[in-house]
Amino acid sequence: MNPKDLGTKAANTWCPGCGNFAILNAIKPVIAELDEEGLVPVENVVLVSGIGCHAKIVDYVNANSFYTIHGRTIPVATGIKLANPDLTVICFAGDGDAYAEGLDHLIFAAKRNVDITTIIHDNRVYGLTTGQYTPTSPSGFKGRSTPAGLEVPPINPLEIVFASGGTFIARGYSHGIELLKDVFREAILHRGFSFVDVLQVCATFFNLYEYYNERVYALEEHDPQDAARAEEKMREWDYNSDGSIPLGIFYKKEDATFGDNFVKYRSKISDLEGAIKKTMEGYI
Ligand code: SF4
Repeated sequence: MNPKDLGTKAANTWCPGCGNFAILNAIKPVIAELDEEGLVPVENVVLVSGIGCHAKIVDYVNANSFYTIHGRTIPVATGIKLANPDLTVICFAGDGDAYAEGLDHLIFAAKRNVDITTIIHDNRVYGLTTGQYTPTSPSGFKGRSTPAGLEVPPINPLEIVFASGGTFIARGYSHGIELLKDVFREAILHRGFSFVDVLQVCATFFNLYEYYNERVYALEEHDPQDAARAEEKMREWDYNSDGSIPLGIFYKKEDATFGDNFVKYRSKISDLEGAIKKTMEGYI
């Protein structure tokens, strides 16, 4: 399959220079490649998006898709996966979507190890509503709702997902499409909850290209199975400092998925029901 076959006729309304283009241009070849290799047939792919500029991505990819409401991409994606485990579910969410309204869903998906891929378009601003601060906006951020500068520090989403039990944790940048492709491919093939925070620049309301270009670097000779080292790397940049910003796969671990545990639980319930039935029969 050619990535061009995944294009649609929908008019693209993202601003020129928006980092969302890089995510779109990275995910299409990965979906096409996985289909071509017979690893993930395109008809089994379901894209889920939330509310925000990012959400339009599902209009621009010719695959099964589902638009959800704000902050609820992950529970919808979880339901789709549980209903049909043969599907490959890729969830797109913004930083406002996933780290504000939907933070509890993110934590629980990581804790349960739901077998879905979550890609966050983390532009650190509410772009669609013209520039309010989000949980990852840095201190001092001046926007529509904080004209004098934000007084609270940002969260580090990688650390939150790690602390919640996430089994695949990565960071990409919208000015590095080859790295994005590699990370997306690995994330989709990972069995379990895979989380990719993409530093996706909002060219209109929070243009951080220069800031990131001076600081990002790709992780090399890093063992993603070394949990202590992974945590150290996640803390290297706290979303507020002037430190260097590592990109790539920080952490990866194999573990039972929510689906595996759900099947186990159902079988225990059946055993329990059988035992209760037998006991009751003794009284009748
Ligand atoms: Fe992209 Fe920002 Fe424009 Fe939204 S407002 S399309 S995030 S550049």
